[in-house]
Amino acid sequence: MTEKQKPVIVVHGGAGTWQLERSQPGLEGVKRAAKTGFDILKNGGIAVDGVMEAVAVMEDEGAFNAGYGSSLNIEKSVEMEASIMDGKTLQAGAAGLLRDIRNPVRLARIVMEKTDHVFVVGQGAEKLAKMFSLERRDPVTQLRLKYYEQQRKALLDGKSELPRLSSLIKSHPELFELETVGAVALDENGNLAAATSTGGFPLKLPGRIGDSPLIGCGTYADNQAGACSATGVGEIAIRLVLAKTVCDHMYDGKAAQEAVERAIRLVNSRISAAYNSMGLIAIDVRGRIGAAHNSPNMCWVYITPETKEPVASLTARIVKESL
Ligand code: ASP
Repeated sequence: MTEKQKPVIVVHGGAGTWQLERSQPGLEGVKRAAKTGFDILKNGGIAVDGVMEAVAVMEDEGAFNAGYGSSLNIEKSVEMEASIMDGKTLQAGAAGLLRDIRNPVRLARIVMEKTDHVFVVGQGAEKLAKMFSLERRDPVTQLRLKYYEQQRKALLDGKSELPRLSSLIKSHPELFELETVGAVALDENGNLAAATSTGGFPLKLPGRIGDSPLIGCGTYADNQAGACSATGVGEIAIRLVLAKTVCDHMYDGKAAQEAVERAIRLVNSRISAAYNSMGLIAIDVRGRIGAAHNSPNMCWVYITPETKEPVASLTARIVKESL
Protein backbone atom coordinates (compact mmCIF):
# COMPACT_ATOMS: atom_id res chain seq x y z
CA MET A 1 0.00 0.00 0.00
CA THR A 2 1.36 3.43 -0.88
CA GLU A 3 1.90 5.82 1.98
CA LYS A 4 -0.68 8.56 2.42
CA GLN A 5 0.35 12.13 1.78
CA LYS A 6 -0.25 14.70 4.49
CA PRO A 7 -2.93 17.11 3.26
CA VAL A 8 -2.10 20.80 3.00
CA ILE A 9 -4.13 23.86 2.01
CA VAL A 10 -3.10 27.44 1.33
CA VAL A 11 -5.68 30.16 0.72
CA HIS A 12 -5.37 33.82 -0.24
CA GLY A 13 -7.86 36.66 0.03
CA GLY A 14 -6.00 39.03 -2.26
CA ALA A 15 -2.84 41.09 -2.55
CA GLY A 16 -2.79 44.87 -2.21
CA THR A 17 -3.07 47.17 0.77
CA TRP A 18 -5.27 45.77 3.49
CA GLN A 19 -6.62 48.69 5.52
CA LEU A 20 -6.93 48.10 9.25
CA GLU A 21 -10.72 48.13 9.38
CA ARG A 22 -10.98 45.44 6.73
CA SER A 23 -8.18 43.29 7.99
CA GLN A 24 -10.14 41.44 10.65
CA PRO A 25 -13.00 40.32 8.37
CA GLY A 26 -10.37 39.37 5.79
CA LEU A 27 -8.34 37.25 8.19
CA GLU A 28 -11.44 35.63 9.66
CA GLY A 29 -12.72 34.91 6.16
CA VAL A 30 -9.57 33.22 4.90
CA LYS A 31 -9.40 31.15 8.10
CA ARG A 32 -12.97 29.95 7.65
CA ALA A 33 -12.25 29.12 4.03
CA ALA A 34 -9.07 27.20 4.82
CA LYS A 35 -10.79 25.25 7.61
CA THR A 36 -13.61 24.26 5.29
CA GLY A 37 -11.14 23.07 2.66
CA PHE A 38 -8.85 21.34 5.14
CA ASP A 39 -11.71 19.45 6.80
CA ILE A 40 -12.52 17.97 3.41
CA LEU A 41 -8.89 16.93 2.85
CA LYS A 42 -8.52 15.59 6.38
CA ASN A 43 -11.50 13.34 5.88
CA GLY A 44 -10.02 11.83 2.73
CA GLY A 45 -11.65 14.28 0.30
CA ILE A 46 -10.05 15.25 -2.99
CA ALA A 47 -8.00 18.41 -3.58
CA VAL A 48 -10.48 19.72 -6.17
CA ASP A 49 -13.27 19.65 -3.58
CA GLY A 50 -10.98 21.26 -1.01
CA VAL A 51 -10.11 24.27 -3.17
CA MET A 52 -13.62 24.67 -4.55
CA GLU A 53 -15.29 24.73 -1.14
CA ALA A 54 -12.62 27.03 0.29
CA VAL A 55 -13.13 29.51 -2.54
CA ALA A 56 -16.93 29.22 -2.30
CA VAL A 57 -16.75 30.26 1.38
CA MET A 58 -14.88 33.42 0.41
CA GLU A 59 -17.27 34.12 -2.47
CA ASP A 60 -20.08 34.14 0.09
CA GLU A 61 -18.31 36.33 2.67
CA GLY A 62 -18.83 39.71 1.03
CA ALA A 63 -15.46 40.77 2.51
CA PHE A 64 -13.53 39.88 -0.66
CA ASN A 65 -13.65 41.02 -4.24
CA ALA A 66 -15.22 37.78 -5.43
CA GLY A 67 -18.77 36.44 -5.51
CA TYR A 68 -21.02 38.51 -3.25
CA GLY A 69 -18.27 41.08 -2.52
CA SER A 70 -17.38 41.66 -6.18
CA SER A 71 -16.47 45.21 -7.16
CA LEU A 72 -18.29 47.06 -9.91
CA ASN A 73 -17.03 47.83 -13.37
CA ILE A 74 -17.18 51.27 -14.95
CA GLU A 75 -20.82 50.66 -15.94
CA LYS A 76 -21.81 49.87 -12.35
CA SER A 77 -22.36 46.21 -13.04
CA VAL A 78 -20.58 43.09 -11.90
CA GLU A 79 -18.69 40.70 -14.15
CA MET A 80 -17.31 37.88 -12.04
CA GLU A 81 -14.93 35.15 -13.15
CA ALA A 82 -13.37 32.02 -11.72
CA SER A 83 -11.31 28.99 -12.62
CA ILE A 84 -10.35 25.63 -11.20
CA MET A 85 -7.75 23.03 -12.18
CA ASP A 86 -7.20 19.41 -11.26
CA GLY A 87 -3.50 18.56 -11.18
CA LYS A 88 -4.18 14.83 -11.49
CA THR A 89 -5.86 14.99 -14.90
CA LEU A 90 -4.83 18.49 -16.02
CA GLN A 91 -8.53 19.11 -16.53
CA ALA A 92 -9.52 22.71 -16.04
CA GLY A 93 -12.65 24.83 -16.11
CA ALA A 94 -13.35 28.54 -16.07
CA ALA A 95 -16.28 30.91 -16.36
CA GLY A 96 -16.41 34.65 -16.89
CA LEU A 97 -18.63 37.70 -17.38
CA LEU A 98 -21.00 36.38 -14.72
CA ARG A 99 -23.52 38.80 -13.29
CA ASP A 100 -25.34 36.98 -10.54
CA ILE A 101 -24.01 33.48 -10.05
CA ARG A 102 -23.63 33.03 -6.31
CA ASN A 103 -20.50 30.86 -6.61
CA PRO A 104 -18.57 31.32 -9.85
CA VAL A 105 -16.10 28.63 -8.77
CA ARG A 106 -18.89 26.03 -8.85
CA LEU A 107 -19.67 27.00 -12.42
CA ALA A 108 -15.98 26.69 -13.31
CA ARG A 109 -16.11 23.15 -11.91
CA ILE A 110 -19.16 22.38 -14.04
CA VAL A 111 -17.34 23.63 -17.14
CA MET A 112 -14.42 21.36 -16.21
CA GLU A 113 -16.44 18.24 -15.55
CA LYS A 114 -19.63 18.51 -17.57
CA THR A 115 -18.52 20.13 -20.83
CA ASP A 116 -15.84 19.57 -23.46
CA HIS A 117 -14.56 23.10 -22.95
CA VAL A 118 -12.28 24.96 -20.61
CA PHE A 119 -13.64 28.51 -20.60
CA VAL A 120 -17.25 29.64 -21.03
CA VAL A 121 -18.36 33.24 -20.59
CA GLY A 122 -21.41 35.51 -20.62
CA GLN A 123 -24.82 34.30 -21.66
CA GLY A 124 -23.59 30.80 -22.43
CA ALA A 125 -22.13 30.52 -18.95
CA GLU A 126 -25.32 31.84 -17.39
CA LYS A 127 -27.32 29.25 -19.37
CA LEU A 128 -25.05 26.49 -18.15
CA ALA A 129 -25.54 27.69 -14.57
CA LYS A 130 -29.28 27.54 -15.06
CA MET A 131 -29.09 24.04 -16.51
CA PHE A 132 -27.26 22.88 -13.40
CA SER A 133 -29.53 24.86 -11.06
CA LEU A 134 -26.73 26.94 -9.57
CA GLU A 135 -27.86 29.51 -7.03
CA ARG A 136 -28.09 33.19 -7.98
CA ARG A 137 -27.23 36.19 -5.83
CA ASP A 138 -26.95 39.77 -7.03
CA PRO A 139 -23.73 41.36 -5.74
CA VAL A 140 -24.72 44.92 -6.73
CA THR A 141 -25.44 46.06 -3.17
CA GLN A 142 -25.67 49.53 -1.61
CA LEU A 143 -22.17 49.09 -0.21
CA ARG A 144 -20.73 48.27 -3.63
CA LEU A 145 -22.50 51.27 -5.13
CA LYS A 146 -20.98 53.45 -2.42
CA TYR A 147 -17.47 52.16 -3.19
CA TYR A 148 -18.16 52.68 -6.87
CA GLU A 149 -18.99 56.34 -6.31
CA GLN A 150 -15.84 56.84 -4.22
CA GLN A 151 -13.65 55.15 -6.79
CA ARG A 152 -15.21 57.03 -9.66
CA LYS A 153 -14.81 60.35 -7.89
CA ALA A 154 -11.15 59.63 -7.19
CA LEU A 155 -10.70 58.74 -10.84
CA LEU A 156 -12.36 61.90 -12.06
CA ASP A 157 -10.50 64.09 -9.57
CA GLY A 158 -7.25 62.76 -10.97
CA LYS A 159 -8.08 63.32 -14.66
CA SER A 160 -10.88 61.65 -16.51
CA GLU A 161 -8.64 59.24 -18.39
CA LEU A 162 -8.37 55.58 -17.53
CA PRO A 163 -4.60 55.42 -18.13
CA ARG A 164 -4.35 57.59 -15.02
CA LEU A 165 -5.80 54.73 -13.02
CA SER A 166 -2.40 53.41 -12.03
CA SER A 167 -1.19 56.70 -10.53
CA LEU A 168 -4.51 57.12 -8.79
CA ILE A 169 -4.17 53.70 -7.29
CA LYS A 170 -0.79 54.76 -5.95
CA SER A 171 -2.24 57.79 -4.22
CA HIS A 172 -5.50 56.13 -3.12
CA PRO A 173 -4.71 52.44 -2.59
CA GLU A 174 -7.59 52.15 -0.14
CA LEU A 175 -10.08 52.57 -2.96
CA PHE A 176 -8.61 49.92 -5.17
CA GLU A 177 -7.98 47.03 -2.87
CA LEU A 178 -7.70 43.86 -4.86
CA GLU A 179 -9.27 41.10 -2.88
CA THR A 180 -9.46 38.27 -5.31
CA VAL A 181 -9.57 34.89 -3.61
CA GLY A 182 -7.76 31.66 -4.35
CA ALA A 183 -6.80 28.29 -2.91
CA VAL A 184 -4.29 25.54 -3.57
CA ALA A 185 -4.43 22.11 -1.97
CA LEU A 186 -2.72 18.75 -1.78
CA ASP A 187 -4.83 15.77 -0.77
CA GLU A 188 -3.77 12.55 0.91
CA ASN A 189 -3.48 10.76 -2.42
CA GLY A 190 -0.92 13.29 -3.61
CA ASN A 191 -3.28 15.13 -5.92
CA LEU A 192 -2.96 18.87 -6.32
CA ALA A 193 -5.60 21.44 -7.30
CA ALA A 194 -5.94 25.20 -7.58
CA ALA A 195 -8.87 27.62 -7.86
CA THR A 196 -9.22 31.39 -8.14
CA SER A 197 -12.26 33.70 -8.17
CA THR A 198 -12.69 37.45 -8.58
CA GLY A 199 -14.93 40.36 -9.36
CA GLY A 200 -11.96 41.74 -11.29
CA PHE A 201 -10.49 45.18 -11.15
CA PRO A 202 -12.72 47.99 -9.79
CA LEU A 203 -13.87 50.31 -12.62
CA LYS A 204 -12.68 47.86 -15.26
CA LEU A 205 -14.09 48.13 -18.76
CA PRO A 206 -17.10 45.95 -19.50
CA GLY A 207 -15.94 42.70 -21.06
CA ARG A 208 -12.49 42.89 -19.49
CA ILE A 209 -11.19 39.45 -18.53
CA GLY A 210 -8.34 39.24 -16.02
CA ASP A 211 -5.92 36.49 -15.11
CA SER A 212 -8.14 34.74 -12.57
CA PRO A 213 -10.14 32.62 -15.05
CA LEU A 214 -7.18 32.10 -17.40
CA ILE A 215 -5.51 28.75 -16.91
CA GLY A 216 -1.77 29.25 -16.57
CA CYS A 217 -2.12 32.92 -15.64
CA GLY A 218 -4.18 33.06 -12.43
CA THR A 219 -4.53 29.34 -11.76
CA TYR A 220 -2.50 26.22 -12.47
CA ALA A 221 -2.12 22.73 -11.02
CA ASP A 222 -0.11 19.74 -12.14
CA ASN A 223 0.60 16.68 -9.99
CA GLN A 224 4.09 16.56 -11.50
CA ALA A 225 4.90 20.14 -10.49
CA GLY A 226 2.65 21.85 -7.95
CA ALA A 227 -0.34 24.18 -7.72
CA CYS A 228 -0.51 27.97 -7.79
CA SER A 229 -3.08 30.77 -7.51
CA ALA A 230 -2.27 34.39 -8.29
CA THR A 231 -3.66 37.72 -7.17
CA GLY A 232 -2.83 41.26 -8.22
CA VAL A 233 -2.93 43.15 -11.49
CA GLY A 234 -4.37 40.59 -13.89
CA GLU A 235 -2.81 42.15 -16.96
CA ILE A 236 0.64 41.43 -15.53
CA ALA A 237 -0.10 37.83 -14.58
CA ILE A 238 -1.47 37.27 -18.08
CA ARG A 239 1.60 38.63 -19.83
CA LEU A 240 3.96 36.57 -17.69
CA VAL A 241 1.72 33.44 -17.63
CA LEU A 242 2.50 33.62 -13.97
CA ALA A 243 0.82 30.60 -12.36
CA LYS A 244 2.32 28.27 -14.96
CA THR A 245 5.69 29.96 -14.54
CA VAL A 246 5.56 29.17 -10.82
CA CYS A 247 4.63 25.55 -11.60
CA ASP A 248 7.47 25.31 -14.13
CA HIS A 249 9.93 26.31 -11.42
CA MET A 250 8.48 23.62 -9.16
CA TYR A 251 8.64 21.09 -12.01
CA ASP A 252 12.34 21.93 -12.24
CA GLY A 253 12.71 20.95 -8.59
CA LYS A 254 12.40 24.29 -6.83
CA ALA A 255 10.51 24.34 -3.53
CA ALA A 256 7.19 26.21 -3.57
CA GLN A 257 8.60 29.17 -1.65
CA GLU A 258 11.55 29.58 -3.97
CA ALA A 259 9.24 29.26 -6.99
CA VAL A 260 6.85 32.03 -5.92
CA GLU A 261 9.67 34.36 -4.91
CA ARG A 262 11.38 33.85 -8.25
CA ALA A 263 8.16 34.65 -10.09
CA ILE A 264 7.67 37.87 -8.11
CA ARG A 265 11.26 38.83 -8.89
CA LEU A 266 10.40 38.25 -12.54
CA VAL A 267 7.44 40.66 -12.21
CA ASN A 268 9.72 43.24 -10.58
CA SER A 269 12.34 42.95 -13.26
CA ARG A 270 10.16 42.78 -16.37
CA ILE A 271 7.10 44.92 -15.64
CA SER A 272 7.74 48.61 -15.43
CA ALA A 273 4.12 49.70 -14.75
CA ALA A 274 3.74 52.12 -11.82
CA TYR A 275 1.32 49.70 -10.23
CA ASN A 276 2.62 46.15 -10.44
CA SER A 277 1.03 44.66 -7.36
CA MET A 278 1.19 40.86 -7.41
CA GLY A 279 0.84 37.99 -4.93
CA LEU A 280 1.24 34.22 -5.28
CA ILE A 281 0.50 31.14 -3.23
CA ALA A 282 1.70 27.64 -4.09
CA ILE A 283 2.15 24.06 -2.92
CA ASP A 284 4.73 21.73 -4.42
CA VAL A 285 4.46 17.96 -4.84
CA ARG A 286 6.13 17.39 -1.47
CA GLY A 287 3.52 19.51 0.28
CA ARG A 288 5.81 22.45 0.93
CA ILE A 289 4.03 25.77 0.80
CA GLY A 290 4.98 29.08 -0.79
CA ALA A 291 3.59 32.61 -0.44
CA ALA A 292 5.11 35.86 -1.68
CA HIS A 293 4.06 39.29 -2.91
CA ASN A 294 5.48 42.64 -3.91
CA SER A 295 2.45 44.56 -2.58
CA PRO A 296 2.36 45.83 1.02
CA ASN A 297 -0.04 43.04 2.01
CA MET A 298 -1.49 39.72 1.01
CA CYS A 299 -4.19 38.21 3.19
CA TRP A 300 -3.42 34.50 3.37
CA VAL A 301 -3.57 31.40 5.51
CA TYR A 302 -2.35 27.83 5.54
CA ILE A 303 -3.14 24.63 7.38
CA THR A 304 -1.00 21.52 7.57
CA PRO A 305 -1.40 18.45 9.81
CA GLU A 306 1.35 19.98 11.96
CA THR A 307 -0.36 23.35 12.46
CA LYS A 308 -3.84 21.76 12.70
CA GLU A 309 -5.28 25.25 13.09
CA PRO A 310 -5.16 27.96 10.39
CA VAL A 311 -2.07 30.18 10.43
CA ALA A 312 -3.20 33.49 8.94
CA SER A 313 -1.37 36.71 8.17
CA LEU A 314 -1.61 39.95 6.22
CA THR A 315 1.89 39.56 4.88
CA ALA A 316 4.00 36.73 3.52
CA ARG A 317 7.49 37.15 2.12
CA ILE A 318 7.56 40.63 0.56
CA VAL A 319 9.81 40.52 -2.49
CA LYS A 320 11.18 43.81 -3.73
CA GLU A 321 14.24 42.47 -5.55
CA SER A 322 14.44 41.81 -9.27
CA LEU A 323 15.89 38.80 -11.03
N1 ASP B 1 -6.12 39.42 -10.51
C1 ASP B 1 -7.39 40.06 -10.40
C2 ASP B 1 -7.73 40.72 -11.70
O1 ASP B 1 -6.89 41.37 -12.28
C3 ASP B 1 -7.45 41.06 -9.32
C4 ASP B 1 -6.97 40.59 -7.97
O2 ASP B 1 -6.16 39.68 -7.87
O3 ASP B 1 -7.42 41.10 -6.98
O4 ASP B 1 -8.86 40.64 -12.09
